[in-house]
Amino acid sequence: MNALRRLPSVDHVVGLLDGTIDLPHSIIVHQARQLLDELRRTPDAIPSHEQIAALLQQRLQHLVVPSLRPVINATGVLLQTNLGRAHLSNAAQLALHQHAGAASIEYDLEKGQRGERNHHVTNVLTQLTGAEAAVVVNNNAAAVLLLLSTFAVGKEVIVSRGQAVEIGGGYRIPDVLRQSGATLVEVGTTNRTYARDYEAAITERTAMILRVHTSNFRIQGFVHDATLDELSAIARKHHVLLVDDVGSGSLLDVAQFSLTKEPLVQERIAQGADLVCFSGDKLIGGPQAGIIVGRAPLIQRLIAHPLMRAIRIDKLIMAALHATLQSYLSGRACAEIPIWQMMSTSLDNLNQRAQRIHAQLPSHWHVHPCESTIGGGSLPGDTLPSFALVRPHQAPQHLAHQLRMGTPAIVGRIAEQALWLDLRSILPAYDESLITRIREIESA
Ligand SMILES: *Cc1c(COP(=O)(O)O)cnc(C)c1O
Repeated sequence: MNALRRLPSVDHVVGLLDGTIDLPHSIIVHQARQLLDELRRTPDAIPSHEQIAALLQQRLQHLVVPSLRPVINATGVLLQTNLGRAHLSNAAQLALHQHAGAASIEYDLEKGQRGERNHHVTNVLTQLTGAEAAVVVNNNAAAVLLLLSTFAVGKEVIVSRGQAVEIGGGYRIPDVLRQSGATLVEVGTTNRTYARDYEAAITERTAMILRVHTSNFRIQGFVHDATLDELSAIARKHHVLLVDDVGSGSLLDVAQFSLTKEPLVQERIAQGADLVCFSGDKLIGGPQAGIIVGRAPLIQRLIAHPLMRAIRIDKLIMAALHATLQSYLSGRACAEIPIWQMMSTSLDNLNQRAQRIHAQLPSHWHVHPCESTIGGGSLPGDTLPSFALVRPHQAPQHLAHQLRMGTPAIVGRIAEQALWLDLRSILPAYDESLITRIREIESA
């Protein structure tokens, strides 16, 4: 009990603050009271008054300084889910600014009346994919949920056993099906599923054949999958829907960079999928979104579903997505969209950048070849050659922490008792900031 008496009063702690905090007095007092209440519960470990004031200062800082901060992604994972996946193009960033005020998201400027919320990217998406119609929702997980909720409630959905997968973050295809009220019918085996397996499973309760891209793992060896052409023929014959969740869903062929082919949305449509869904922020390289393209009457039913209201995108995402898609239309995606810039940059170019930066860093830094990965649940196991700035250190975690806590925050990776900053995942525009931050830390 004596220890508790050592606790200062609220007024006393507040008086000890250094006075630099730009918050109303009532909030500071509230936070101080909360802190003192918490300390009262551990009477054996009461800190000094100065330490308590420092703790309070820290809490107040956390209130005003955002924990969501811009990061230079030096991890070498080009689409880092924890770092917000795709880096937006300049055009998409500009679009975010331009549409931050009022925008005609659901207003027809020509007619001067309420307009269609969904039509803004429809023309571009149908042009790019060859599909009849399109709709965009919050993310691809929401797209799958909407597809199942619209077409498969109380019915059966046929999925290959090798595709009843977990995408990440606890998102599992069997669970999503259950959640939406559809019944999963698994066919084939983990490694081999034939077209005849699907056909044999069709009953009068079947609503859909669902294909799911195995985005984040690869099985090799004695494997077989039914082709989309085969499935399309079966789906048509039995009047069930063929839905293809292609995950990343690319509009450009990654094989041009010696990477394993990812499904091309336009090919899947051409091969007869009724509906194809994919993410906006994986290989499309835009903002977080779930894009569904396919046959017009089906898209109409999706738009009319009550769930649509809960998972629709706002004007900012719409504007950024439109700007991103424009780069594909104009044929300049590799030059303008960061994920494609990162993938298409030559090794020579990365080496030159590394050497130029290296020349401006203290002598403990080296340039080493390394391997970048695509990430974001795309191209598992595939790597692209790259160059990294490497700093051997007794405690690389310490250095990594310093770089993370600065402005801009820099996130690298630790390997072989060194900190690695992979240049392929960093846009050249950030090279100067990188140099400045490293020099600041090294000279401290
Ligand atoms: C990534 C992925 C999803 C989830 O997409 P989000 O846009 O992250 O919601 C769903 N299905 C597949 C096959 C994926 O690869």
